[in-house]
Amino acid sequence: MALLEIENLHAEVDGKPILKGIDLSIEAGQVHAIMGPNGSGKSTLSYVLAGREGYEVTEGSIRLDGHDLLEMEADERAVAGVFLAMQYPVELPGVTGMTFLREAVNARRKAVGEEEIDAMGFLKMVRAKAKTLGVTDDMLKRAVNVGFSGGEKKRNEILQMAVLEPKFCILDETDSGLDIDALKVVSEGVNALRTPERSMLVITHYQRLLNHIEPDVIHVLAHGRIQKSGGKELALELEQNGYADFVEAAA
Ligand code: ADP
Ligand code: MG
Ligand code: MG
Repeated sequence: MALLEIENLHAEVDGKPILKGIDLSIEAGQVHAIMGPNGSGKSTLSYVLAGREGYEVTEGSIRLDGHDLLEMEADERAVAGVFLAMQYPVELPGVTGMTFLREAVNARRKAVGEEEIDAMGFLKMVRAKAKTLGVTDDMLKRAVNVGFSGGEKKRNEILQMAVLEPKFCILDETDSGLDIDALKVVSEGVNALRTPERSMLVITHYQRLLNHIEPDVIHVLAHGRIQKSGGKELALELEQNGYADFVEAAA
């Protein structure tokens, strides 16, 4: 059985249908990429998976490890191992990076009946991971994402992912707003998190991220449906021809 199993998923925002029958199955250990033009529903899919409010599923199912995600609230999904690195990361005034991470880890431990994490050991672990991702001590002491540059926000999200060790990671346009050096840091961080147990869904508009993170399968999303799935060659085809063929075919 696949780690993530999406069947015939339909979803709407403000009564407007956006996702129109998505089928997607990701095995444990696999990285899948979703590519598609602006407005095709990529971010909507990521929000629906994470359980964000205002995104209403009207048909279909999503199962993680055999559990029905649609029956869980967003925080329950996070505890179950879903992590979403958002296209536009949320600012959390008044919550420092370190506090946010510790509370997130403890919430998950509590849910499975484990003791709170040892504060000193945790601090050391976070600092070590932060260093490899170019997240400074100063950033960890500041309010989450407040006043961070685009690149700092993205690096911070990969740090959250590295610390929380989720089962299923969704990265929504993690490459947007990154220069080539930051893109490398973020990609290396993501690659270091690839394990046989963990699955990832990497969402991107451009092919360039896939030069650094090599997905097992690539899907093209247009008009709320997966129009085509394939390997590396599909990304190259898109780079050459753009999305026009898929957009027209779907319309
Ligand atoms: P992508 O991430 O592929 O660019 P989105 O999922 O952001 O696409 O958007 C898909 C469609 O849903 C677009 O037509 C967009 O205008 C619409 N949409 C997304 N979010 C909302 C919202 N909160 N309210 C109304 N329409 C929305
Ligand atoms: Mg967009
Ligand atoms: Mg988007």
